[in-house]
Amino acid sequence: MTKKIFTLNSPSYVLRIKNSIFCVVMGAVLCLICLAGEARELPAHKPAAGGVAIFDLGPYATEPTVLYQGNAVATVKIDDHWFAVVGIPLSAEVGAEIVVVVKVDDWISFSYVERVLENSYGEEKLEVASKHVTLSPSNLERHQTEKTRIDSVKRTFTDKKPISFKLRIPVEGRASSTFGYRRIYNGESRSPHSGMDIAAPKGTAVFAAGPGLIVDVGEYFFSGKMITIDHGSGFLTLYAHLSDADISIGDIVSHTSLIGRVGASGRVTGPHLHFGVLLNGVSVNPDLFL
Ligand SMILES: [Zn+2]
Repeated sequence: MTKKIFTLNSPSYVLRIKNSIFCVVMGAVLCLICLAGEARELPAHKPAAGGVAIFDLGPYATEPTVLYQGNAVATVKIDDHWFAVVGIPLSAEVGAEIVVVVKVDDWISFSYVERVLENSYGEEKLEVASKHVTLSPSNLERHQTEKTRIDSVKRTFTDKKPISFKLRIPVEGRASSTFGYRRIYNGESRSPHSGMDIAAPKGTAVFAAGPGLIVDVGEYFFSGKMITIDHGSGFLTLYAHLSDADISIGDIVSHTSLIGRVGASGRVTGPHLHFGVLLNGVSVNPDLFL
């Protein structure tokens, strides 16, 4: 898989150590450590609003530190190259610079620049309960408190590397709304859609889209019952409008773990799963990871 691993398993290496079972065992252990530290599949490269920009940083012995708009960015090693996987906010304007600052070994510092490409999303009109459009003072206060908590969860950044950036579709159903749609609720314009919606009957099983750690389970005014999974290095997935959550904060899940059930909680027009993907604190298009 990687140059390091190939060296350990090459015939010449094995010949040199054939009398030492200990060394062979240690080699296998090192292989596992190398594999555990590397994500082997990257998302699609699409440097547009709500997209993902992938930068090939080159070969380095030590892990580079990468920042975009002051936030830590996911870095992964594939073969001997380090890659930065950068989420571009939906608010990014076409033609604006994506400046990524890279630091290696505390003494090499340089930046990469790419331009935001055009990416057009549609518009949709939705009718929901009026309390979810014109908020009462108490609901507004509730939403503001919840927003602080959700924003903090979305900024989760752990050193652990994602095993892969490839995700599974978390629920069987029909795609009912795509990422990026400009949304008009009861005639009033609101922020664009930050995930993809999959319509399914209430109670349909929802699975984790990939392996990770449950970092939040909450009941929110807009998102309803919502679960957030940390896949490592600021790569998160979230699952909203659930009827049930079958896991707790701190649980470790795999892509076969049942985490909850489809519901119609929060601001919805009917039962569906809202599935979101985040990188460096910004919502990006889940299609790029499926
Ligand atoms: Zn949605």
